[in-house]
Amino acid sequence: MYYSKGNYEAFARPRKPANIEAKSAYLVGGGLASLAAAAFLIRDGHMAGDRITILEASAISGGALDGAGDAETGWLIRGGREMEDHFECLWDLYRSIPSLEVEGASVLDEFYWLNKDDPNHSLQRATIERGQDAKTGMDFTLTSKARREIIELVLALPEQLYDKRINEVLGKDFFDSNFWLYWRTMFAFEEWHSALEMKLYVQRFIHHINGLPDFSTLKFTRYNQYESLVLPLITWLRQQGVKVQFDTQVMNVVFDIASDHKVANRIEWIHDGQQGGVDVTEDDLVFVTNGSLVENSQWGDHHTPAKFDPIVHDGGSWHLWRNIAAQDPTFGRPDKFCARPEESQWASASITTLDARIPAYIEKIAKRPTRTGNVVTGGIVSVRDSSWLLSWTVNRQPHFKQQPPEQTVVWFYALFTDRPGDYVKKPMRDCTGEEITKEWLFHLGVPVDEIDQLAAEGAITRPCMMPFITAFFLTRNGTDRPKVVPDGVKNFAFIGQFAESTRDCIFTTEYSVRTGMEAVYQLLNIERGVPEVFGSIYDVRELIKSAVFLRDREKLQVPFFAKRWVEKTIIGRLLEEYGLI
Ligand SMILES: Cc1cc2nc3c(=O)[nH]c(=O)nc-3n(C[C@H](O)[C@H](O)[C@H](O)COP(=O)(O)OP(=O)(O)OC[C@H]3O[C@@H](n4cnc5c(N)ncnc54)[C@H](O)[C@@H]3O)c2cc1C
Repeated sequence: MYYSKGNYEAFARPRKPANIEAKSAYLVGGGLASLAAAAFLIRDGHMAGDRITILEASAISGGALDGAGDAETGWLIRGGREMEDHFECLWDLYRSIPSLEVEGASVLDEFYWLNKDDPNHSLQRATIERGQDAKTGMDFTLTSKARREIIELVLALPEQLYDKRINEVLGKDFFDSNFWLYWRTMFAFEEWHSALEMKLYVQRFIHHINGLPDFSTLKFTRYNQYESLVLPLITWLRQQGVKVQFDTQVMNVVFDIASDHKVANRIEWIHDGQQGGVDVTEDDLVFVTNGSLVENSQWGDHHTPAKFDPIVHDGGSWHLWRNIAAQDPTFGRPDKFCARPEESQWASASITTLDARIPAYIEKIAKRPTRTGNVVTGGIVSVRDSSWLLSWTVNRQPHFKQQPPEQTVVWFYALFTDRPGDYVKKPMRDCTGEEITKEWLFHLGVPVDEIDQLAAEGAITRPCMMPFITAFFLTRNGTDRPKVVPDGVKNFAFIGQFAESTRDCIFTTEYSVRTGMEAVYQLLNIERGVPEVFGSIYDVRELIKSAVFLRDREKLQVPFFAKRWVEKTIIGRLLEEYGLI
């Protein structure tokens, strides 16, 4: 496998790999990583769909990419996806998946046209004092010390950041800045998370620096991501003959390990409560999603808090990874990610509004109507003075195809679930949906004497506690996550957020698709390149542009002795063109 960029490889079609007719594939986990890998096996590996089986523990495909519920009990979304134009592998996948919304179009076409017609941007990124504009504006308020620390982080070698926390490399000036408010609420970073991942994020999204304050570089789907992304993909896979075996908890993949090879030779599972499994040969390919950000996620309801369940249960993805990892040191260290749930948890809530007074408060902050089908808040609105550090967003409505027009679906989340709220005085993790609604309405600016009644009758709120939601952000080194295809392995790959693809950053749909693609391309030796991670960090124009924004557009003074050189070089011209001098 190799990486490529540019149109030559993007439009090339790989030929059939040798012996593909004799091969079959088992994909453990029915999330995006597996669905994408199955699609690449068919499209680029020429494998017949009926030779592919997905083994999924739950009763539905899509994993983290969910969208469920109904108008009576409330709509459910554990999360919403901020997306961008440089999800290279994801768009490479979705260009080939037919849209279910627009006849004759691909999912990429549909998404592209939607975001052309209705581009995203936020009109109020943060509030303070109960619904007032926090006036964070376009400024990052980074001091020169904080800027220097960011540059040092980007210049650091990855190994210098192994097992280091962000607050070991960035200081108080940085944490006091608007930049950190934007950054941590947008990506869900905490101060104790991995400095290595922070570096990868800054590098990976350097072209988004100017869009951080208003989300103008983000893009969103029409509906929730189950309906907009999972449904078209699983529909196409089924049409190709792919089988999905639900209610199948894979307990272990057993390897034959010798000095010169590592071959997966049996998958053990519990299916519909019965122990079973399948023997596999070197011709059978096995893909495992090891670890999951939504493992043990628990829903509460309007009158019941969501349970916090941080235990590693038998039959879950951590347990499976532990059993696999016990067989070889190159199969990673799951306990680096699943044994510190207090450092990886946060909670979200799906709010379905019923009372027309609530959208009026939303519209005041969003500065847009909620019911046009177009962008509403344009990304999250963060409440700067919330002790939970809460954020909320209203995506294009309806967010579900079956959603009645009088309902608005809101996604809410808080980074600090263990601190008492400002109105309810309880930590979010102990709150019912109704109590979470009260805290939200308080910060929306609803008059205090109306909050309790509106929260009780004007919305259905379903909290969701996710103990491992940022497990991949925990401090790690370069080998804690196994390589996609570990050294010496013949017929097996790790996929998803806990497989190591060194160049990209995690907590993205792109990463799941990328690892799926890298896995298929390696195991089948596919002759086409995997699209390279977008290289904005190597583009001097992007670097200059980001420097302009990191300095809050304050120009650099060119020293007298350098003036002549700057004037006479292309660098000088670029510095001027992008506004740095
Ligand atoms: C709240 C939230 C916000 C997000 N925000 C963004 C965003 O803004 N932008 C973005 O690009 N991405 C975002 N993501 C990330 C993105 O959704 C995920 O990274 C991606 O969907 C993960 O897919 P996956 O297939 O790798 O893993 P998962 O979706 O976790 O799939 C794993 C699957 O394996 C199954 N499973 C577990 N154990 C077993 C077993 N033993 N046997 C069989 N099956 C098993 C699970 O049931 C699950 O279906 C967000 C995710 C969440 C939850």
